[in-house]
Amino acid sequence: MATTAQLDDFMQGLIRRNPGEPEFHQAVYEVAQHVLPYVAANPKYEREQIFQRLTEPDRIVSFRVCWEDDKGQVRTQRGYRVQHSNAIGPYKGGIRFHDNVTQSILKFLAFEQTFKNSLTGLPMGGGKGGSDFNPKGKSDREIMRFCQAFMTELSRHIGPFTDVPAGDIGVGGREVSYMFGQYKRLVNEFTGVLTGKGLSYGGSEIRTEATGYGVVYFMEDMLARQGDGLKGKRCLVSGSGNVAQYAVEKLIQSGAVVLTVSDSSGTLYDPDGITAEKLAHIKHLKEVQRARINAYLDTYPKAEFLPDRKPWGIPADLAFPCATQNEVLGEDAQQLVANGCRGVSEGANMPSNKDAIDVFQQARILYAPSKAANAGGVAVSGLEMTQNSMRISWSRDELNQRLRVIMRDIHEKCVRYGTGDDGHVDYLKGANIAGFVKVADAMLAYGIV
Ligand code: GLU
Repeated sequence: MATTAQLDDFMQGLIRRNPGEPEFHQAVYEVAQHVLPYVAANPKYEREQIFQRLTEPDRIVSFRVCWEDDKGQVRTQRGYRVQHSNAIGPYKGGIRFHDNVTQSILKFLAFEQTFKNSLTGLPMGGGKGGSDFNPKGKSDREIMRFCQAFMTELSRHIGPFTDVPAGDIGVGGREVSYMFGQYKRLVNEFTGVLTGKGLSYGGSEIRTEATGYGVVYFMEDMLARQGDGLKGKRCLVSGSGNVAQYAVEKLIQSGAVVLTVSDSSGTLYDPDGITAEKLAHIKHLKEVQRARINAYLDTYPKAEFLPDRKPWGIPADLAFPCATQNEVLGEDAQQLVANGCRGVSEGANMPSNKDAIDVFQQARILYAPSKAANAGGVAVSGLEMTQNSMRISWSRDELNQRLRVIMRDIHEKCVRYGTGDDGHVDYLKGANIAGFVKVADAMLAYGIV
């Protein structure tokens, strides 16, 4: 069996080979703590060094992106695509535009994506891309020019059988469409090379909703296993982008009471609960006006805005971190648990740091890690690829049902690999091992490549 010393040795080697990449170290550690002991108990994986090989991305492409802003000034950004593993399908994963994007962030996201995509049961490998381009405050034309410049280089590295990007933070329907338009122009092919497209040009119903809905479905399944449900539960949601909006929508539909959303400037706390009408207003603020979340108070003055605060100090039953990595720290987790929080389902990628996860696990509350809980988004991306290949479009109902089944299957896989002797489910362990096994078996079959 792998010991703590072996885990430490492994991590020291990883850190030496990948200096200055703390997010990547964090993501690998989170998986290694469970997969190394599993590998030690299953020598076929150990012999072939499968996990070691999985901590080295297949390749990383990094490139210059030059574009011209509205003032006619030349701007230079860095673009990346991390192609992590295509063991079980073409590289698949989003593109992130945010000024904090680094190679470390994209390597952690691509690594996570490989395990997440494996959990969906669909034939997709893992990748991630992006740029340090900051979309905030940019005009629509600036966004278009940047997306076109970015795709001009990226187009050489992707393809419907090679690598299929999608959206992530800072990249939604508008940006995917600008990139798809440019790809189509350069390559002269209309194929499913990106997912998250508009409905009239190859997009899929439910793709927009899928991540947020899936995060709530996963919580529903965890609660159901304990004979409980979402009705009446007080919920904290962080973020106010695509994932948060549709998590809130599904929570409202399920009879839960949503108390918060947030953005980088602070938390919006509505003690009366965010209703469907209020959510429609939030969507309008974010998607049409591209405003800050505190503009909500102009229409609903009974709500409170807590500047520079995260939602985690407000007493509630359930938490849904849907903003970004490392937004739930140890002290946040302690506050949540002290206030009686019973469950966490992660919409963002790696939103809880190690200390926070330790707190949740010691308190034995329901904790669904992002690679399981937020896999609904990429799952419906996979279904968008299927529809593109078949040249058909399934209905909303059909897709929502498929999403529901996929989330239930992921929950079952986590239970299968994560249940301890006392019956307690460690969802993180379950997700890590279940995600690993499928990719590892494919790698074993390929030999040393
Ligand atoms: N960016 C999303 C994720 O983190 C979606 C990726 C995709 O649809 O390819 O899973």
